[in-house]
Amino acid sequence: MKKITIAIDGFSSSGKSTMAKQLARKIGYVYVDSGAMYRATTLYAIRNGMTSKERGVDTAALVAALPDIHISFIITPEETQHTLLNGEDVEKEIRGMEVSGWVSPVAVIPEVRHYLVKLQQQYGKDKGIVMDGRDIGTTVFPDAEMKVFVQASPEVRARRRYDELIEKGTPSDYEAVLANIKERDHIDTTRKESPLRKADDAFELDNDRLTREQQMDVLIKLFEEKTRG
Ligand code: C5P
Repeated sequence: MKKITIAIDGFSSSGKSTMAKQLARKIGYVYVDSGAMYRATTLYAIRNGMTSKERGVDTAALVAALPDIHISFIITPEETQHTLLNGEDVEKEIRGMEVSGWVSPVAVIPEVRHYLVKLQQQYGKDKGIVMDGRDIGTTVFPDAEMKVFVQASPEVRARRRYDELIEKGTPSDYEAVLANIKERDHIDTTRKESPLRKADDAFELDNDRLTREQQMDVLIKLFEEKTRG
């Protein structure tokens, strides 16, 4: 069967990562979480004093530091994917509210995007990959054979994110999570450089109304269509 590239885009916490991960496992493809790469870059910026309430992100310092930011992934013995920043497992830290609060302002910086998009394209050069994010079908892999755009309301997404944080033992406040989601939606859709939008040839999946199993059925059907002959 020919190998293809699968791009899954959508808003924050739309369930696209879970879906992309499950799909990759089922079809034996590599899974790459592009949001984790923006999050790890953001963590680097926070740790190195490049973010401040008064001045925002120190873009010049972060751009100068990009060559020192190395992001990779490992599969743990429990078979989950963890993100490494310069060799350190930062999976838990990059999911916290501090990183969530800074990640969209970091992700608007064109140099950051160029740096990470290049890395993402390298991951996908041999196809056989499922990547999720905001601009995968439009910018990273505009020629992807299968593109999916996941829709879900801000409230459903905030509830999901809140439950996830609680499950991981991170104390959280639902209203703050909802506000963060809405703010990120706004920044992600209005930024100049590759804003979040549905690619013209993407299949639209409404996550509010379908169960996980139904979503997977839709994705597998699409995959079979795209890989046939
Ligand atoms: O997917 P996740 O919510 O972890 O992504 C975190 C943030 O990274 C998003 O809110 C967005 O600002 C940014 N992002 C992006 N482009 C991607 C993936 C994520 O701008 N391809």
